Amino acid sequence: MSFSCIRLSKICFLLSVIVCAVLLLLLPKFQTSWRFRSYPQPSPLIVFNDSSKRDVQLQQVESSSVDNLDEEANNIMPLVKAGLLEEWSSYSKDTERSNLKADVNTNARPNDHVHNVWTDHVEPPEISGKERLELKDLFIAVKTTRKYHKTRLNLLFQTWISKAKGPTFIFTDWEDQELRLRAGDHVINTNCSAVHTRQALCCKMSVEYDKFLESGQKWFCHVDDDNYVNLQNLLRLLSAFSHSQDVYVGRPSLDHPIEAADHVRNDGSTTTKFWFATGGAGFCISRGLALKMSPWASLGSFISTAERIRLPDDCTIGYIIEGLLEVKLRHSPLFHSHLENLQQLRGETVLKQVTLSYGGPENKHNVVSLAEVFSVQQDPTRFKSVHCLLYPDTAWCPTLMVN
Ligand code: UDP
Ligand code: MN
Repeated sequence: MSFSCIRLSKICFLLSVIVCAVLLLLLPKFQTSWRFRSYPQPSPLIVFNDSSKRDVQLQQVESSSVDNLDEEANNIMPLVKAGLLEEWSSYSKDTERSNLKADVNTNARPNDHVHNVWTDHVEPPEISGKERLELKDLFIAVKTTRKYHKTRLNLLFQTWISKAKGPTFIFTDWEDQELRLRAGDHVINTNCSAVHTRQALCCKMSVEYDKFLESGQKWFCHVDDDNYVNLQNLLRLLSAFSHSQDVYVGRPSLDHPIEAADHVRNDGSTTTKFWFATGGAGFCISRGLALKMSPWASLGSFISTAERIRLPDDCTIGYIIEGLLEVKLRHSPLFHSHLENLQQLRGETVLKQVTLSYGGPENKHNVVSLAEVFSVQQDPTRFKSVHCLLYPDTAWCPTLMVN
């Protein structure tokens, strides 16, 4: 009796082991790559061999990509350049690890702890890969256009760019010999049209993004030619993160997310809601995240992604990151555009920000308030005064300022 009982339980045990093994073997067949399936298809890989044909190619990208949005959305990886894909997979492993830590360590919404960092300079709980950052780790893209080379851009060369020649690249739309002599291969003639249209601005952003990936630097920061970049504060801000984390940081110009009509999703919805950092205040993206954007941003696909949602360059960045990759924008009040009232930034606070801006000719009183180093007549944008307060030993700053 006891013999047959033992045999019976042995048989039962063996049978359950076999059932488990069969289930384990079948498991991968039931899994679906749901995540990529719900994305719009990235556009075909367009290689800009002849950059002077950029605008013609832009038309081709538009017509070839808009119609096939929902076809075979799984087929993303083969479209990414092989080298990028390799780099991407090593980064995504790192990022997965750091995300895991973030999930374990904090219950806060993504933006909650970020607010603490920016306002109180307290480290967010998710920071695991704090790294020592130097200027050479950054890629700062300055967007400009031919009509601003002599005015806006000159002011930047005189001030913050003089302290960051290595990491700064100028993206413009015209071959300017004087500028070339001044900045050499740090001037990139995008051959995009010199107009303030959505297409022309997206064309420039697309080149900025590609050049950043090529550069191998850790952080991509975009600014306009009416931004002052406080380099030390920028480094301090970014060094709170690891460049292999998913980081998108900047300031929204709206107090609500925007909505883009893109494609029919699995749940039947046809719009995506997302936040975006306004380009006029500048924003930064970690390399880890930039690599993940590649299917919708690299080698011309940024232009077709922007065309698909019919929104400007900075919105398209937000769409790819928040809408498609589901990575949250880290809202930072340290970035500033002239869409805000800059006069509210006064005294010492001005020097604690990451970027500043100034109002154009139609709103020239919209500048930061600062003790007079130069008068408003001498320094209408206030950038020279800011620069002298930060770097008092600069040759053209009043000698009184040197301690
Ligand atoms: N810009 C450009 N092409 C143009 C006009 C402007 O690339 O035809 C750039 C300009 O150099 C700046 C940015 O776009 O970096 C924003 O331009 P602006 O400050 O004149 O306008 P905003 O959008 O800030 O009001
Ligand atoms: Mn502007």
